[in-house]
Amino acid sequence: MPSPKDAFYLPDPTPLEKIDWSLAKQWGVNCWIKRDDLIHPSCSGNKWYKLINNLSAMKNAGLQRLLSFGGGYSNHLHALALVGKLFDIETIGVVRGDYHTHLTPTLVDCLSAGMRIHYVTKSEWSLRDSVDFQSALHARYGPAWVIPEGGNNSEGFSGCRLIASSILEQLPQNLNRTVNLFVACGTGTTMAGLVAELPAQFNVHGISVVKGADTITQTISEYLSKANIQPRCRWHVHHEWHCGGYAKFPNYLANFVNRFESETSILLDPVYTAKVLFAIAQWMENGSLVMGDHVVMLHTGGLQGRRGVTSLQ
Ligand SMILES: *Cc1c(COP(=O)(O)O)cnc(C)c1O
Repeated sequence: MPSPKDAFYLPDPTPLEKIDWSLAKQWGVNCWIKRDDLIHPSCSGNKWYKLINNLSAMKNAGLQRLLSFGGGYSNHLHALALVGKLFDIETIGVVRGDYHTHLTPTLVDCLSAGMRIHYVTKSEWSLRDSVDFQSALHARYGPAWVIPEGGNNSEGFSGCRLIASSILEQLPQNLNRTVNLFVACGTGTTMAGLVAELPAQFNVHGISVVKGADTITQTISEYLSKANIQPRCRWHVHHEWHCGGYAKFPNYLANFVNRFESETSILLDPVYTAKVLFAIAQWMENGSLVMGDHVVMLHTGGLQGRRGVTSLQ
């Protein structure tokens, strides 16, 4: 992969693989996985798309520094640090919680990619979007292009709109039924990008990995209406598959992931993609997906988050 210093580029298209999975065979469901986990060895698939237009926006604003926010295991900060290193751009990560005496593997990677880390307490964290807090950060680290937690901004959304095109090119053209596309939802930004682009043949199913109030549907609707888009596809966010809540990884899910991985050789991350595949498996078991149906799962990456999860082999 090239790394030009001043032209931000999109990576080569990742494969769309029809998977060899006993459950899918048993139920007669055609199941493809879009391997955006393969975009870069250490940069999560959808986080790459969320950053790409933020880099151009930073440049257009005359800035050369990126600042963002996240937890100690954040895929977003990890991707930000890596992208910063690749393009020779300074990065600053504001991290919730004081990890400096017990660094996570994620933060070790961020630091070694050159990211400067600013630890904040929970109460400071709640102020992170305020003008005062951000001007103190700019005074300390220099002016920076600020990206919200998770890459959830309009540049992140416009970047995620690019994901759909290679799925459309790679899927067999003669499919005569609805294509059910499954994607994990944290903020919903990635799903919004897909919904904006996919044609009427698609039904986009967002699997929320967060327990509680549904802000995801609203986030998606807002992105679409701000960009003046009437979606052609159907879409819905599902709330039954968070498996206990954000970052909860119960044993039944670990067992499922271990079986899936040993059968297909495709690795999943514990926070997002594990729950999407689990939902697809349950849909086959309960008859929501039937013989001859088409399923595409977007593998959004996040594999760096497997480290430290002892229940995965
Ligand atoms: C961040 C992330 C998501 C969620 O993306 P949103 O756009 O916030 O909904 C899904 N999968 C992985 C692996 C992620 O890192």
